[in-house]
Amino acid sequence: MDLIPAPSPNFDARTAPPDMIVLHYTGMQSGEAALTRLRDPRAKVSAHYLVEEDGRIFELVPEARRAWHAGVASWSGESDINGCSVGIEMVNPGHAFGYRDFPPAQIAAVIALVGDIRTRWTIPDARMLGHSDVAPARKQDPGERFPWKTLALAGHGLWAEPRAAPGPVLAEGESGLGVTILKRALAGLGYGLETIGDYDAATTLAVIAFQRHWRPTRVDGLADGETRARLMALFREASA
Ligand SMILES: [Zn+2]
Repeated sequence: MDLIPAPSPNFDARTAPPDMIVLHYTGMQSGEAALTRLRDPRAKVSAHYLVEEDGRIFELVPEARRAWHAGVASWSGESDINGCSVGIEMVNPGHAFGYRDFPPAQIAAVIALVGDIRTRWTIPDARMLGHSDVAPARKQDPGERFPWKTLALAGHGLWAEPRAAPGPVLAEGESGLGVTILKRALAGLGYGLETIGDYDAATTLAVIAFQRHWRPTRVDGLADGETRARLMALFREASA
């Protein structure tokens, strides 16, 4: 693995080995600007790696240390996501500055890097996540253009494409058994969501995050048959 050293001072100590990978986009105008910020002690943010669009990989923080990339977040009831994860930033301007496809060279580098990380730590497929998965109310990255399916086909992460199930479209404001099942499946997969109550704003945000990752052709916060079929298949796979 060819890594370019670019040490960042923005880290502290872990209390346990990492068992999750969180992918991000930089969301800035250029890779250089992002690299500068991730190494600036005043910014107090970092990641373990930054992957440029041309496939170059910068190493900022040793994996054995706790980098500061996730912020306020949660997954499967765990809120110290920085403490349990390896964070990878991918250069992309993001939704604010002209969101674009991740080039093949960048994706190939991410796949190689993830494969390399997983030789050192035990990271289940169900814990290959995006920043928006662990912080659905605050974050959109790496977003619906990131090819999670390609990553899964390369052996990293969960993917499911069951035949679309018919059934009603569930939407914000609704309640009932279908909504309860939806919320339990989202929370069961890992999303930080209360399982009681109706289809509230937090449910919409979790559905949007789910769609960005696992149903990227339509990101609208509506739980249609296909969204629910994919969710139930992944929930079963993740709990198997
Ligand atoms: Zn992020």
